[in-house]
Amino acid sequence: MKGFTHLEQEIQEWKAKGTFRPLTEIESSQGARVVINGKEVIQLSANNYLGLTTHPRLKSAALEAVEKYGAGTGSVRTIAGTFSMHEEYEQRLAKFKHTEAALVFQSGFTANVGVVASVLGENDVVISDELNHASIIDGIRLTKAKRRIYRHSDLVDLEKALQETQEARVRLVITDGVFSMDGDIALLPEIVELAEKYDALVMVDDAHASGVLGANGRGTVDHFGLHGRVHIQVGTLSKAIGVLGGYVAGPQVLKDYLIHRARPFLFSTSHPPAVTAACEAALDVLLQEPEVIDRLWENARFLKNGLSQLGFDIGESQTPITPVMIGDDALTMQFSDELFHEGVYAQGIVFPTVAKGKARIRTIVSAIHTQEDLELALQSFASVGKKLGVI
Ligand SMILES: *Cc1c(COP(=O)(O)O)cnc(C)c1O
Repeated sequence: MKGFTHLEQEIQEWKAKGTFRPLTEIESSQGARVVINGKEVIQLSANNYLGLTTHPRLKSAALEAVEKYGAGTGSVRTIAGTFSMHEEYEQRLAKFKHTEAALVFQSGFTANVGVVASVLGENDVVISDELNHASIIDGIRLTKAKRRIYRHSDLVDLEKALQETQEARVRLVITDGVFSMDGDIALLPEIVELAEKYDALVMVDDAHASGVLGANGRGTVDHFGLHGRVHIQVGTLSKAIGVLGGYVAGPQVLKDYLIHRARPFLFSTSHPPAVTAACEAALDVLLQEPEVIDRLWENARFLKNGLSQLGFDIGESQTPITPVMIGDDALTMQFSDELFHEGVYAQGIVFPTVAKGKARIRTIVSAIHTQEDLELALQSFASVGKKLGVI
């Protein structure tokens, strides 16, 4: 079709640079092993930390909800799309998070955009870690508030930002709880102390901490014992929880405000019954089968030890996200392709997602990988690493 030469030109440039990538099709369900191009491979790239995407309790809850309540809701939450199950789930979620209230959005992405774009005005300042997620950045692009970006987990730079913005009505400090490309945990206790010293609000995005850190997977606030001191907690239901959605946990006044002003909440249809019911079942699993989280951490320790014993540089991760640092973009993509031939799916992450020279294979292990899966994966990393001269 005519009219897209401007796009074709850019795509040609990506192809020349080798950064144009077709989408990878999974031909099976999401799990420890998946089928890609007709081949069974060990999955090390999904965010399915606890294996809940195929947990029997989630599947049967979803099926029952479809039978009872249908496939869709037919409306946005604020008009005719709030079912009792949505309200019940939010009440349970708030109790789980030890907050006054919780509000579910269609995704973690829309939760961040909805909150960040709506809760601040032109006399306010948002203070954000430079490595925060794209959805926080997009929320910041939409807010009328002034913005200050501080260097990654740099408390000196954060304090400077707080000192320089004291005339503002409200300051909101935002950090990811776990940073998705490196697996490091935010310095949340120190951030909270600084925010208290300068009378600022704190928001944490626990997308990679929900279901992973804290008692029963309650997140970083619980992990650090900071209940009542973090004003806004965003989490996702799409990663460890295994389904789809995002939520904001905090005071009731925040929930009431978001219901009236957060645009993705106001102008986009609510979750189908199957989604909410499966999320409910996932909460039951976190509360009643917390040993699944222990298995995740055992597997994470095993894979990390194995990779570093082989001589790989695995960065500074403190979580089940384990980057295998390669450096060069093309070599990283070649490494990923070779791993696939060996039976392991682990995607390369290159510029612009990470800085130039910091290309890596990002692995995320899950609770449902067996010892055999992990040993086979390590063997594959060893043979590709030697073949390509990385170790
Ligand atoms: C994945 C992610 C999101 C988006 O969550 P979805 O539910 O997939 O939309 C938001 N923030 C961070 C830090 C993430 O890693």
